[in-house]
This record gives sequence, structure tokens and C-alpha cells, in this order.
Amino acid sequence: MRTPITAAVLEEPGDKLQLVELLLDEPTDHEVVVRTDRVGLCHSDLHYLNGALSIATPAVLGHEAVGTVEHVGSAVTRLKPGDRVVATVTPSCGLCNSCLRGRPTQCVRVDQLRRRERPKLLTHDNREVEVLGGVGAFAEAFLAGEASLAKVSDDLPLSVACLLGCCITTGVGAVVHGAKVTAEDTVAVIGCGGVGIAAVQGARLAGARRIVAIDAVADKLELARRFGATDTVLATDPTSTADRVIEILPDGVTHAIEAVGRPQTAELAFTILAPTGTATILGLMPAGAKLSLSADALVYGDRIVQGAYMGANRFLSDVDMFTDHYRTGRLDLDAMVTAELPFTAINDGFAAMADPTTIRIVLDFRPEHP
Ligand SMILES: [Zn+2]
Ligand SMILES: [Zn+2]
Repeated sequence: MRTPITAAVLEEPGDKLQLVELLLDEPTDHEVVVRTDRVGLCHSDLHYLNGALSIATPAVLGHEAVGTVEHVGSAVTRLKPGDRVVATVTPSCGLCNSCLRGRPTQCVRVDQLRRRERPKLLTHDNREVEVLGGVGAFAEAFLAGEASLAKVSDDLPLSVACLLGCCITTGVGAVVHGAKVTAEDTVAVIGCGGVGIAAVQGARLAGARRIVAIDAVADKLELARRFGATDTVLATDPTSTADRVIEILPDGVTHAIEAVGRPQTAELAFTILAPTGTATILGLMPAGAKLSLSADALVYGDRIVQGAYMGANRFLSDVDMFTDHYRTGRLDLDAMVTAELPFTAINDGFAAMADPTTIRIVLDFRPEHP
């Protein structure tokens, strides 16, 4: 028996999302049905929406979600109905070589974890609907594997709990797990959207001695200061932006975090590194994108360029870590949510992402029940 649910469906990139009724399958043995409470609008969703990143259509996007477990498959042991859960697009098996080496975001069995015989979602005329990242949370309810869900404490407000699914995990995780920033470090964060602001907060949390925020929009730099940036650089062309960073920190930075998703900003992250510094590249780039780096700077300077996909997270324990830092006021989640809208206003929400003072817009699925 499939359950009818209302979802925001992408039919063609560039189109607005359509709120339509879809049919949600029952959970398989290892899956959980989650009633969606709040979902954040992430730039990755926007990239799929406008076609900068591609996904099979029709599709249900949405991956930064918190919800309530409705029912669970027969083999689910860790979660039960009524639990509050946050979803991740990086489930992990715990048993493969990547997982055993402490890199669960590179789990080699993700496809196996997500595989199922029937489509999760069907339209009324029996078309299969793709779901983003094994989640697809722009819907009243979604199906996710147990491995894609972390239990989150009920004392964390719903409106900020969803941020732990992507924005905070990626930005803070990149600093803590990816770059492993310490009190000795000087950090530059390129791009001050949701993930960039989270990275600024991560650098503050890790005790970095200088935090240089870089963005092309002055309003975003003001925001970055509120979250812990000690210095700011208004980005213009790559050469003068790099020069400005070197004026502030003549040796260069020991860590640069790129949170834009363009080859030029990734190259800038490398250019501003001190010898032995590390550039951590977070932004999702168009398929086939390539970077051009100075071989001399790399080879003679022992510099490092690395990825930290989804903040190189350890999702289940990270959710608890972030919750503790939030409770003690070291991680400001409340100020990251700049607007809350009802789910039905999802297209207005995406339009509002163009406003430079937007950090995160969160959709509320039950605005009548605060
Ligand atoms: Zn995201
Ligand atoms: Zn694994």
C-alpha cells in the first residue's frame, strides 16, 4: 500500500516546483518513514533546480531535513516511532575500508545501502520519481535508510535542527574533521553563504587565531563578522583579492576553506596558502570542472589541496557534538535561520535566496502547529 503525500516536484530544470500528490512506498526492512517537520533550502537544491547540477526528472529535491519517525522497517533497531531525526545524504555502512579508516562519507557501499526494488515515489500516472541524495525531503514525508538518519535531541528547536543535516555538517565539519584547524591556525573562508558562515563558526569553535572572510558581497562580510570573522576581504578579481589577504597575513593562511563551488575560487584558496598550508574545497562544481594550480607552489611549498565532501562528517556523533556546542552557546544556529516560510511557499523561498542577507531559509511543514 502506498501513502499519498504532497511533494514539491521538479519536472524540468528551470521550472518552478509544482506541489502535487505523489505515492510513497512502504519501508523496506532497513528503511524508516519520516514525517517532515522542517527543511532548509540549500544552494545544492538551487543548483539542481536551475540545471547547474543535473538530476533525473521528475524529482523531489530537499536534503537538509528534520522530521519525526512515523514507522520503521522490520530490521531497524536504532530508531522507533516518535523519534526526532535529522537526515544526511552520506549514509555509511560502518564495515567497508573507508568506514573502517574513519572516513564514512567515502563509504563504498552507499549504492548498496540505497538500493531498493521498487521506486520510493510514484506519480498517480505511475511515473517513477527520483529523490535527491536518497532523501527527497521537499515532501510531507520521506523514506530513508536507517543509516541516513541520526536521532537528535528533542530540546533542539526544529527550525535549527534541520541545519545539522547539511549546512552545519558541511561547514563546521570541513574545519573540524577536514582541515583539523587548531589554535595555531589562520583560516580564510571563501564564500559566506550558509556553508561559509558555518565554516567561519567552525574556525571560531576550533580556536583559530585569525579568520578572514572573503565574499563579493559586502553585506555577507558584515554577517561573517557577527559569526566570528576577525578580518574581511571584499572579493574583486582573483589577483587583487589574493593581494588583500596577503596584506592582512603576509605569510598566507595555514587553512583556506572554499565554499563557493567555482574553479576560480578553489584556485584562490590555493593561492593564498602559506607554505605547508591546506586548501579544503567544499563547493560542488559543474561536472568536468578542472583546477589550474601553480606546480611550484605545490611542490616547493608542501601545500595540500583536499576535498572534505559533506564536511568529512561522522554523522551520528557529529549531531550530538553540534547539539552540545549549540546548548552552551558556542555554535549559533538561531541566527543562521534568516526566514521561516510554510512549505507551500517553497518557490518564494528559492527566490528569496538571492537576497545577500539570507543565510538559511527554512520551510515549516506544519506552520499551524508551532
Ligand atoms: Zn546541502
Ligand atoms: Zn562503508
